[in-house]
Amino acid sequence: MDTFQQLGLNEDLLNAISDLGFETPSEIQQKAIPVLIQEERDLVALAQTGTGKTAAFGFPMLQKIDINSRTTQGLILSPTRELCLQITNELKLYGKYCKGLNVVAIYGGASVTEQASQIKKGAQIVVATPGRMKDMISRNLVDISKIQYSVLDEADEMLNMGFYEDITDILSHTPIDKSTWLFSATMPKEVATIAQNFMHNPIEITVGNKNESTSNVSHEYYLVNGRDRYLGLKRLADANPDIFSVVFCRTKRDTQKIAEKLIEDGYNAGALHGDLSQNQRDLVMKSFRNKQIQMLVATDVAARGIDVDDITHVINYQLPDEIETYTHRSGRTGRAGKTGVSMVIVAKSEERKIKSIERIIKRQFEKKDIPSGMEICEVQLMSLANKIHNTKINHEIDKYLDSINELFEDTQKEELIKKFFSVEFTRFFNYYKGSKDLAVSDSGGSNGGGGRDSSGNDTRYFINIGRKDGYDWMSLKDFLKETLELGRDDVFKVDVKDSFSFFNTEKENEEKVLAFFKDFKYNGRYVNVEVSENKGRSGGGKRDKGRGKRKGNDKPREEKRPRRSKDFGRPEGKRSDKSKKGKYSTSDRPRRSRRK
Ligand code: ADP
Ligand code: MG
Repeated sequence: MDTFQQLGLNEDLLNAISDLGFETPSEIQQKAIPVLIQEERDLVALAQTGTGKTAAFGFPMLQKIDINSRTTQGLILSPTRELCLQITNELKLYGKYCKGLNVVAIYGGASVTEQASQIKKGAQIVVATPGRMKDMISRNLVDISKIQYSVLDEADEMLNMGFYEDITDILSHTPIDKSTWLFSATMPKEVATIAQNFMHNPIEITVGNKNESTSNVSHEYYLVNGRDRYLGLKRLADANPDIFSVVFCRTKRDTQKIAEKLIEDGYNAGALHGDLSQNQRDLVMKSFRNKQIQMLVATDVAARGIDVDDITHVINYQLPDEIETYTHRSGRTGRAGKTGVSMVIVAKSEERKIKSIERIIKRQFEKKDIPSGMEICEVQLMSLANKIHNTKINHEIDKYLDSINELFEDTQKEELIKKFFSVEFTRFFNYYKGSKDLAVSDSGGSNGGGGRDSSGNDTRYFINIGRKDGYDWMSLKDFLKETLELGRDDVFKVDVKDSFSFFNTEKENEEKVLAFFKDFKYNGRYVNVEVSENKGRSGGGKRDKGRGKRKGNDKPREEKRPRRSKDFGRPEGKRSDKSKKGKYSTSDRPRRSRRK
C-alpha cells in the first residue's frame, strides 16, 4: 500500500498530514492524488461519502497553486453551506504550513460584504455554494477569470438540488483551459451530461460501487397487506415521536392524497409536488425547515431541492421504479455526519425488489414488523417521560403554582405522576387497544441484523440513550455487547428512537444487564435501563396469521388519530396546516414542539 510520501506530495503538506494523524491514503486518494499532481487534465471520480474526497482534490490543489500570488486560482463548488465550511476548514488544516495561503468560503445566509472583503484580501482558493457564487460574480465581487482548477464536489447532490444552471453560468466565467475535477457519490445521467459538456477527455476513477449508499443510513422494510399501507405509515410515525421525515410516493396524486389524509388525521404533514405553484412549494419547504412539518410527503422530482440536514427518516411509501432513485431517496437522511433510517413499506408481491436493491446498494435491509399498538403506547409514554425529564422549567408558571399546589395538596408524588402520564397514555391506549396486528407473516424472511427469532425466553429493555446520542441500531448493539461483555448474538432486536431505545437479551442475562446499568454513567449522565413490557416483535411468536384478521374489536379502527383532550389546545397563531376548506386543520392535536 502506498504512503503519502509516495504520492508525490511536498514537505509542507506531508507535515500537515502527519499532524492530522492520517497514516495511509484512502483508496480515492491513492488513485487521484498522483494523477492530479503530475498531469493537467480533467477528472471524474466516483466514491461514496466519507472516503476522503476532500483530501483527494485538496492536496493536489494546494500543491499546484502559487501561494505567493494573490490571484484566485482554485474554485471549489459544493452543494451546501455546511459542506462548504467543512471543506474550507479541511483545506486550512491541510495547508497549515503553506505560508500566505488564504482559503475563503462563500455561501448564502451570511453577509456578502464580509465575504467580499475576505476575497479582496486575496484568496488563492474559493470554496462556494453555487447560488451565492453566481450572485457574487454578477456583482463583480469575485474574479474567477484566471482560475486553473475547478472542483465540482458532490456533483450529484448539486444537480439534485437544481444547481445545473448556476453551475453552467459560473463555469462560463472561467478560462477554457483550466482543469475540472468532478467528485460524486453516484453517476446519474445529469452528472454524465456535465462531464460530457464541460470536461475534456476526463480520466475516470471509481472506488466501490457506483450506486452504493452511505453507511450511516440503515435500511428497513416492513411487510404489509397492500390495503394496510396507510395504516402502516401512521404507525411508523407514531412509533417515532420525534420523526422528521420525507415520505416518498410515486405519483403527484398519491402524494397529495397521503399528505391530506395525514393532516386530517392530526399529523404535521405537508405535500411537495410539481402541481403546486413555486410560492406554495416555498411555503411548504419553509415549514419543513422550521420543523413545523414533520412529515413531508413528496414526489421524487419535487424532493430534489431538499437540502435539509437533520432528516431522521426517509419513508418509501411506495418503492420507486428505478433503484438509482432509491439511492437518492435514502440519501436525504444520514447527512452531515448524522445517522438516518430509510424505511420501505412493501406488499408481499414486492418483497423480491428489496433483494435487488440490496444487491445494488450493497447494504442489507432489516426486515421489521409494523409496531403493535401497545409498543406504540409504550414508546409514546417513554418519549413523553424523557421530554419532561429534560424540560427546562419555565418560571412564568411560578405565579400559578400556589393554586396548582393547592389542588394537588393531598396527592402523592406517585399518584400525581400516574395521573399526569395517563393524560397522554390514555389517548394512545384508547386509540390502539384492540387494534389489529398489521404484521404480515412471511415464510423465509431475512432478519437483517436487528433480530433473531426467539422462543419468548427473552427480556426486552428500555434504555434512555438514542439517536440524539449518535447511535443507530448497529452502533448501539455494538456498544451494548462491548460494555456488557456479551457474545455476538446476545443483544438483539435493537430499536433506536430519538432519545431512547429498546433492546433484547436472553432472560438469563437480565440480572447482569440490570445490575450493570444500576450505576452507569455515560457522558456524565446516568443511563437508565428498565425491563420493557413489550417483547419487540420481529419473529416474536404470537401474531395473526390470516390476512387482515383482527384481534378483538372487529370494527375497522384507526381511521382517525387519537385526539388530544381539549384542554391541550393548539397555541394561537401557531397553527401550521390550513386545510383546503380554508379552516384550520381538522385535528385538535397540538403541534409537536420543534426539535432542537
Ligand atoms: P468525503 O468528501 O469523501 O465524504 P471527507 O473528505 O469529508 O470525505 O473525509 C472524511 C473524513 O476522513 C474527514 O474527517 C477527513 O479528515 C478524514 N480523512 C480523510 N483522509 C484520511 C486519511 N487518509 N486517513 C485518515 N483520515 C482521513
Ligand atoms: Mg466531501
